[in-house]
Amino acid sequence: MGLRAVLQFPDRRLTRVSEPILRVTDEIRELARDMCEVMYDEPGIGLAAPQLGVPVRLVVVDVHWNDEGGERNPRVLVNPEIVEATGEITWNEGCLSVPDFQAEVERAERVRLRATDLDGNPVEIEAEGLEAVCFQHEIDHLDGILFIDRISRLKRSMYARRREKQLRQERDEAGSSTAV
Ligand SMILES: [Zn+2]
Repeated sequence: MGLRAVLQFPDRRLTRVSEPILRVTDEIRELARDMCEVMYDEPGIGLAAPQLGVPVRLVVVDVHWNDEGGERNPRVLVNPEIVEATGEITWNEGCLSVPDFQAEVERAERVRLRATDLDGNPVEIEAEGLEAVCFQHEIDHLDGILFIDRISRLKRSMYARRREKQLRQERDEAGSSTAV
């Protein structure tokens, strides 16, 4: 089976608020596996279930694997919640759902979060720097928020216009190649 496709802006499904997971079923475990596969394949350092079109509160994060010789060691978090956020940090962010764009976003520098793992055990994580940014970015996805919703309106609308134009061009090209 091929990998599941990542939804891309301006897909409306990315703006939905995802539902809590009441029970970790086989389906959820399979989804988590698929999410990791997509994350490593793209590659990315995090992914949220709604990016694959499944509106449930599940994220995977692995900020270390990209390092030289780094092992794959994904954190899979069910119903993650930020319980404490301190400090400020500005990071140049990108997103698999926001093609060809990066922008600086202000986030908390350190976060403490609670979640459960795939076995239903509670986990508490403290993260800082890139990892903290990544958790905040992924949890935003669960609330239907993209990083471009956290930049200036001007920058966001410039990107939205560029993206529309790009999609129009792709459609036109697809149209002309099939109109034989
Ligand atoms: Zn993202």
